[in-house]
Amino acid sequence: MAHAYIGFGSNIDDRLHYITQALRLLLNAADISLIKISSLYETEPVGYEEQGWFLNGVVAIETSLPVHQLLTLLKRIEAAVGRQHRVRWGPREVDLDLLIYDHCCIDTPKLTVPHPEMHQRSFVLVPFAEIAPDVRHPLLGQNVRTLLSNLNDAKTVKLAAPPPKIDARM
Ligand code: AMP
Repeated sequence: MAHAYIGFGSNIDDRLHYITQALRLLLNAADISLIKISSLYETEPVGYEEQGWFLNGVVAIETSLPVHQLLTLLKRIEAAVGRQHRVRWGPREVDLDLLIYDHCCIDTPKLTVPHPEMHQRSFVLVPFAEIAPDVRHPLLGQNVRTLLSNLNDAKTVKLAAPPPKIDARM
C-alpha cells in the first residue's frame, strides 16, 4: 500500500459542492482508503489573478493503485465533476494534483511527482502541514512543516471551514 497526498481546489460557483463531489468520487473508488482530510482554506489566486479566490485543501489516502493509475483516476474525477478546459492557471470547477506518492520521484511529460510547485505554494503547504507535517519531500529532503516555515509566499491563505464530511460508502 502506498501513501499519497492530493491537493484539491475550486474557484467557481459552489466551490464546496464541487470539492465534496470530487472527494466523494475519490474516496469511493476501488483501492482507495481515506487517512485524513484537511480543513478548507480560502486562498488568493496564483498566476492568473483576475479570478475568484479558491477553496483549497489536501487529502491523505492509502492506495494499492500504481502512481500512473492514480493520476488517471484523478483526471477522470475532474472530468466527471465537470471541469471545463480554460486558460492555464485560470478558473476551475475542481483541480486535483498528486503532490506526493510515497518516496516516488518521477518526471515525465504526463506526470511529475512530487508535484513540481508544491513546495512554493502556501495554499498547498498550509493544509498539508495541518494533516501531515512530518511527511518528507523525497527530492528536497525536508518535511512539510520545514518547507512551510521556510516559504516566502505572500499570498493569503485563510482558514475557512472544517474538513468536509464525506460519506465514503456510497
Ligand atoms: P492541471 O491543469 O493542473 O490539471 O494539470 C494539467 C496536466 O498536468 C495533466 O494533464 C497531467 O498530466 C499533468 N500533471 C503532471 N504532473 C501532475 C501531478 N503531479 N498531478 C496532477 N497533474 C499532473
